[in-house]
Amino acid sequence: MGKGKLFVFSAPSGSGKTTIVRHLLQQEALKLDFSISATSRAPRGEEVDGKEYHFLSLEDFKRNIDADKFVEWEEVYANNFYGTLKSELERIWNLGKHVVFDIDVVGGLNIKSQFPKETLAVFVQPPSIEEMERRLRGRQTDAEDKIVERIAKAEEELRFAEKFDVILVNDSLEIAKEEAEQLVSTFIKK
Ligand code: ADP
Ligand code: 5GP
Repeated sequence: MGKGKLFVFSAPSGSGKTTIVRHLLQQEALKLDFSISATSRAPRGEEVDGKEYHFLSLEDFKRNIDADKFVEWEEVYANNFYGTLKSELERIWNLGKHVVFDIDVVGGLNIKSQFPKETLAVFVQPPSIEEMERRLRGRQTDAEDKIVERIAKAEEELRFAEKFDVILVNDSLEIAKEEAEQLVSTFIKK
């Protein structure tokens, strides 16, 4: 395996990384494609199987682990597994595109350590935990217990920020989108 570049966007849930990644994917000139992770969690809101995630049963997820089908995988929340399938990277590289990941901090750094030269690892940082919490509640997609779980995890995740190549503060969304585009286009030319 190996060809295009890899762009990892990691952040605590509610930082706005999905919003930023969606914006980047709309920029056709960048030739990016989204690495659709596999997860054992249930679809939420309007999520569609094969679009945001490959939704697998816990049993199927574990079968794929045993069959060595993942580049990386993790039990991000209790009984909620998430992972990047090797077949995803091959699919995107075969299209002649660069891979974009929206994955958690540990998974992101795992990708970086497996493909150090080809990967730009970006940590999307919320302006504050309070603002992150406001965004999570505003999104209205998670139950209260999930929000509390995500906030508790965020404090731990923020400590990983310095291990990333770049920290992108998502305060003004417009500025963050522009900075993200700039980072990606510069790294593609390297
Ligand atoms: P993540 O993928 O990191 O969990 P999302 O992209 O889903 O986060 O963003 C969480 C919520 O915050 C969404 O409702 C989104 O529209 C909103 N949001 C994202 N960026 C900003 C920003 N810079 N300012 C205000 N709200 C934002
Ligand atoms: P959510 O349930 O909000 O979609 O995602 C929960 C967390 O799992 C987020 O931090 C998300 O980035 C992370 N995640 C999504 N896909 C993957 C993956 O393939 N690998 C890893 N390690 N984490 C992932």
